[in-house]
Amino acid sequence: MFTDTHSHIHFSHEFPDVEDLIVRAERAQVDHQIIVGCTPDDSYLALEFVKKRSGKNMWSTLGVHPHSANLFTEEVEQKFRSLVLSEPKIVALGEMGLDYFRNLQPKDVQIKTFRSQLRLAKELNKAVVVHVRDAWDDALKILGEEGNKKVILHCFTGDMNIAQECWDRGYYLSFSGVVTYPKNGYLRDIAMSVPEELILIETDCPYLTPQPYRGKRNEPAFVIETAKILAMLMGMTLEEFGKLTTQNAKKIFGWKK
Ligand SMILES: [Zn+2]
Repeated sequence: MFTDTHSHIHFSHEFPDVEDLIVRAERAQVDHQIIVGCTPDDSYLALEFVKKRSGKNMWSTLGVHPHSANLFTEEVEQKFRSLVLSEPKIVALGEMGLDYFRNLQPKDVQIKTFRSQLRLAKELNKAVVVHVRDAWDDALKILGEEGNKKVILHCFTGDMNIAQECWDRGYYLSFSGVVTYPKNGYLRDIAMSVPEELILIETDCPYLTPQPYRGKRNEPAFVIETAKILAMLMGMTLEEFGKLTTQNAKKIFGWKK
């Protein structure tokens, strides 16, 4: 019933107990997951991970995070293209984007890699999973110029004006455990205003653990805590909210069972 749209449970050093954690997720009815890649090699591992579990409702992405933007070469681009064309388990490109907070790569390198991946996604008609931190002006400008229609803003933490600009353009806003933190009332206000058809939920596990598990390693089953808060804000039952967000995820990722 629930979909974790952004999970990194293929990180084997973080999740040596991954099979137990998948069972816990299923028990919590978190039975759909998108496994997101961050570098070329990490993306190939994410793909292998979901292919090994082909009976599960798990799909993967291929992407190069802004922290590793220098790794997106022409060879990588060509490999991504051929994998997307041959592997139905790949449902999006990303994560990709801009991060001027940690600035681990020069801005021009981040921008070039972001634009290249956006163009590849358009060519292949795939959704993009976008990471933005302290870089909203450039990110929105570039997204607008490249014209991608299928856009997911992962772990949305922008302000209300940015949120409005995003949903006016038809972008999806994905909320993580950050929305459960007491100090983040502004995000809960945004969540109450997002058009229903554009809202998604995610863990970004092992990071961003929601209340009341904060301080522990995050895992897909915990996405329920984020769902509980959002369902309450939107005046829905947990079940209705689970169905809504899974339908939304199915629409944007276009997965096939
Ligand atoms: Zn992530």
